[in-house]
Amino acid sequence: MNNMEIAIISGKGGTGKSSISAAFATLNGEVLLADCDVDAANLYLLFNPSHEEEEVFIAGEKAFIDYSLCTNCGICVDYCRFGAISFINEKVSISEILCDGCRLCSRICPENAINMVPNDKSMMYSGSFRNGKMVYGRLSPGEENSGKLVNMVREKAKEIAKENNLETIILDGPPGIGCPVISTITGVDKVVIVTEPTISGLHDMQRTVEIVKKFSLPAFVIINKYDLNSDMSDQIEDWCRQNKITIAGRLPFNKQVVEAMVMGKSIIEFAPDNEISKNITIIWDKITKQKK
Ligand code: SF4
Ligand code: SF4
Repeated sequence: MNNMEIAIISGKGGTGKSSISAAFATLNGEVLLADCDVDAANLYLLFNPSHEEEEVFIAGEKAFIDYSLCTNCGICVDYCRFGAISFINEKVSISEILCDGCRLCSRICPENAINMVPNDKSMMYSGSFRNGKMVYGRLSPGEENSGKLVNMVREKAKEIAKENNLETIILDGPPGIGCPVISTITGVDKVVIVTEPTISGLHDMQRTVEIVKKFSLPAFVIINKYDLNSDMSDQIEDWCRQNKITIAGRLPFNKQVVEAMVMGKSIIEFAPDNEISKNITIIWDKITKQKK
């Protein structure tokens, strides 16, 4: 069976991307839902999946001081380019959050008092949720290898989709245009860009479209909360038309979307007969049925 992988991304946070991903995931038959927003995974809170498997993600290394060897000379404080080593209460100390794992301190310490330890606090989980299977990663705070963890989530998603004959893989991507976004969209079948009608929404969408174009992927734009600024929504649509980007649809602001999330449901589950749920269904049909 050939999978259809659809990535939902946005140039910035707060556009309602995850609410829309959740709605898509609960529309039809069973799907594989992968939360690739590994820095701020939140769909597991909504869907409360069972944990059938978990895997440690080694996100790099962190420096730790062996105080039985350290003479508190302070040489490492001067060398660390990341400002991760400082004196706290006159005792040299390394911040786990700031340490980049570059190993320099462990090489220059005259007492060999600094050890590099694999950072194994990031995890990938997989399991079942009420509309299929789910995979998600959680990067530990301060870690920067999110692109690698996204790749791991996607590989697992494909594996589980194949095992369970799930045709559709929905990837809820991270915001922005950085490495984890590129890891999310590389090789997918379609990319959905969620934007909102603000100047920054327009600019961020334009930057996101540029990235998607570099990968020659079919892109669809959803203007969420379009009625908060109809003129700006028109501008976004005009720009998309001029740049041959398909407008998948517009969604109005609807406070029931937030109420649904608070109740642990997607808007499709919470208010299936609401106009917004019907619009989301039409948008999904348009995205999935359009030939690549
Ligand atoms: S360079 Fe080594 S001995 Fe000196 S303060 Fe740093 S850890 Fe301690
Ligand atoms: S490993 Fe690099 S970043 Fe971390 S404390 Fe040592 S010098 Fe600083």
